[in-house]
Amino acid sequence: MGWPPSVNEPMLMFARAARLFAQAMPQDCQLCGISCAGTICESCKTDLPIRSESGCKCCGQIGDEQSLAGETCGDCLTNLPHFDTTKTAFVYAFPLDKLIQSFKFNANLSLVGMFADQFVASLKSGSHGIGALPDIIIPMPLAKRRLAARGFNQSALLARDIGKQLGVKVESRGLVRVRDTPPQAGLDREARLANMKDAFDCGQDLAGLRIAIVDDVMTTGATMSDAARALKKQGVSHVEAWVIARASK
Ligand SMILES: [Zn+2]
Ligand SMILES: [Zn+2]
Repeated sequence: MGWPPSVNEPMLMFARAARLFAQAMPQDCQLCGISCAGTICESCKTDLPIRSESGCKCCGQIGDEQSLAGETCGDCLTNLPHFDTTKTAFVYAFPLDKLIQSFKFNANLSLVGMFADQFVASLKSGSHGIGALPDIIIPMPLAKRRLAARGFNQSALLARDIGKQLGVKVESRGLVRVRDTPPQAGLDREARLANMKDAFDCGQDLAGLRIAIVDDVMTTGATMSDAARALKKQGVSHVEAWVIARASK
């Protein structure tokens, strides 16, 4: 096992404890502050930007002018991603963006359960139902330096919860970062694509398997595409991007 491990065990235990606590004890809603059974009250849940449109069948983006439901968007036609389809629970917009930032940057692990629950609910409520589940779920790995600074990989915590709910095996070290890329924020699409090239490796034989890569947010899809390419090099037949929230490009 490499160091730091992809899932910090004390953090994982803390996330599980936070979920049990949230289920058992009334607490303050993290958006409006009223006492509720869970991390977000039922009223605030209805304000969350839940995805209702299916968007581009590959990258999941919602078109500005035309409905992309079931179609492939212009970006994907020009530069086809290495993943095959995208499934997502939310639009990355207020107030969901604040919750994701709190989860990642303030280690607010009590939100893992809510994000995972909503993702699984959105999978089940899709227009074609839950469909064929992947053989394995792999979390998007963090660069070692960032993992060491943050203390946990948010995608690994989400993947564990989602995998448990669906009964699908989670392979936490299925993908590794071989190159420590600078943060993507602030880079345009072209720069992001260049920044990500060959940043991932997969040392396992995954021939013929269907795999879902879990991440918290997808923006251009460049990171996801590079991760998917590493899996396809190992013979993976189908890659789904499973993201809690889809941002606009
Ligand atoms: Zn509330
Ligand atoms: Zn697309």
